[in-house]
Amino acid sequence: MGLQQLVEAARAGDRRATARLVTIVENQYEGAAELARLVKGGDATVVGVTGSPGVGKSTLVSALIGAWREQGLRVGVLAVDPSSPFTGGAILGDRVRMADHALDDGVYIRSIATRGHLGGLAATTGAAVRLLEGLGFDVVIVETVGVGQAEVEIASLADTTLLLLAPGMGDGIQAVKAGVVEIADVYVVNKADRPGADGTVRDLKAMMSLVRREPGEWRQPVCTTIASESKGIDDLVAAIGKHRDWLAGEDRLADQRRRRAAAEIRARVDAALRQRYRVTDALAEAVAKGETDVASAARRVLDDTA
Ligand code: GDP
Repeated sequence: MGLQQLVEAARAGDRRATARLVTIVENQYEGAAELARLVKGGDATVVGVTGSPGVGKSTLVSALIGAWREQGLRVGVLAVDPSSPFTGGAILGDRVRMADHALDDGVYIRSIATRGHLGGLAATTGAAVRLLEGLGFDVVIVETVGVGQAEVEIASLADTTLLLLAPGMGDGIQAVKAGVVEIADVYVVNKADRPGADGTVRDLKAMMSLVRREPGEWRQPVCTTIASESKGIDDLVAAIGKHRDWLAGEDRLADQRRRRAAAEIRARVDAALRQRYRVTDALAEAVAKGETDVASAARRVLDDTA
């Protein structure tokens, strides 16, 4: 099948065709640039889902898929685990989720292989988001394990970022440390059936009351869910819709899209620069031993490829 036929098949809901196209984008295979031209456009709501392992991301994403499917929307999920060198989604549990939605052509779930490099990761994920959007998915969910900087980068690709917390995991403090709190548009306290959920909600609200906001600025809502029982999902979907509406006002969405594109380009440039300007072990050792200084060493790296 040629690219054009694959694209048509994918648009019609053929998941194997979609998978082949994502693989082309993910590995930057020949045809990736042509593919990007073929599937321009689209208007998906891009939702980032982040949080520490075990808070219930996979379970929640599965419940969200169900809610959006009820509205007749096509949903794509990209599961990104920057800490794992493996693809296949063992950690993010998409096999389990796949089972929930295995027979539904309106759902596509995929793990994104890590490239062992943050720039590469954000660039690859960004390209995959763009592809799914262009293939006509209405919602694209990007799920990341909470590991600080990587999730900040991945969140820059999303329109609306959900930060998941669960009672009794000390998540509040972790999130503050990682600076992740600032990137969240909606807080979700999952496992609301567990003791301590009220306390987690209270802590979050107390923390947010300390943040000064300009009038008209978005105020992050705190949603509570029991993902394993699909409870609280409708309210969460409504909160995501509200944020999307807020973004749509006063050109914020266009702004956000521009920022997203910039983040993606930057990631690609970073990755390319790292490839081009290599810091050799020998040079590092020379600096470590005091044989040369850092500035001179840097100049040598830059001059080498000039
Ligand atoms: P992830 O690592 O963040 O993707 O978390 P998972 O979705 O794999 O969930 C981790 C565990 O928590 C699983 O055993 C889920 O069944 C369970 N879980 C998820 N949501 C809830 C919830 O709302 N309440 C309870 N009690 N357990 C949940």
